[in-house]
Amino acid sequence: MKELIRKLTSISSPSGREEQVRAVIKEEIASSVDEIYEDKLGNLIAVKHGGKTKVLLAAHMDEIGIIVTDIDEQGFLRFGNVGGINPQRLVGQRARFTNGTIGVFGVEKLEENEKLTLSKLYLDIGARSAEEARQKVMVGSVATYYHEFCDLGDRIVAKALDDRIGCAILIEALKRVTKPQNDLYCTFTVQEEVGLRGARTAAFGIEPDYGIAIDVTGTGDTPEAERLAIKLGHGAAIKVKDNSLITHPKVKDLLTGLAVKNKIPYQFEVLPFGGTDSGAIHLTKEGVPSGVISIPCRYLHTPSEMVDMNDVEAAVRLAVAVMETKLD
Ligand SMILES: [Zn+2]
Repeated sequence: MKELIRKLTSISSPSGREEQVRAVIKEEIASSVDEIYEDKLGNLIAVKHGGKTKVLLAAHMDEIGIIVTDIDEQGFLRFGNVGGINPQRLVGQRARFTNGTIGVFGVEKLEENEKLTLSKLYLDIGARSAEEARQKVMVGSVATYYHEFCDLGDRIVAKALDDRIGCAILIEALKRVTKPQNDLYCTFTVQEEVGLRGARTAAFGIEPDYGIAIDVTGTGDTPEAERLAIKLGHGAAIKVKDNSLITHPKVKDLLTGLAVKNKIPYQFEVLPFGGTDSGAIHLTKEGVPSGVISIPCRYLHTPSEMVDMNDVEAAVRLAVAVMETKLD
């Protein structure tokens, strides 16, 4: 599975430009599903039949990134954010555009006690003039972090584990499921990082009976970390609440019961910030009971996100258990 994760995280596909990662996922799952289609916004929907209850399982394909807003006379690029980019984490890091152009983040001189904001940063793509820069990028070009996947043993580090790890888990679950008991709509969504947009239209089209997102969550297990109960390596997290969703009790009980029954390590998650695709899915039409299988992840939204493969395995097993449990 690490090879699949390496492949998925090495792609630059920020929100709205998911075509490269979508093509790879499509190829990976083609032989494991009954039907596969793209909706008008670009969500990739893979269907596996197994019963009359429709279960939407969602993982988002997009990742955070930057978008060029201006090119100055010397060829330095100014940019805005696509999703939650923290300016404190950028200086000295690299970005890669969807056309392969690479740049390094630099910062203007700051006054004493001046707050670092995105407007103080620029991206240097090695151009000597605006004209040279424009041969490689233009206003509106988008880029993502450019960092390599690292295998640290049980733990792995990569950019965009949010949420390529969810995509990898859904792909792996689709390959492993042998007796689906529901109609599974495994949906690889677009534009989650800019407001759960793809999930909204996908859920409207599918009209699911249940919704389950698979996405990363923050941890509280690093030095002086914000107080959070989630720990890396302590199992798949069953979300109870975040800013976008209170997990439906039916779904919370389903996931908890399946984890206990199958001896899958799990922990409960209450996240005081953020949201996932289930935040959009559960508000579709007259409402969809929804929940989230979360993967504990350190250093969220940085170029070096970290997850534990034991948690990843637990999440795959929990997803497969949902697929193989007859729901009504
Ligand atoms: Zn995410």
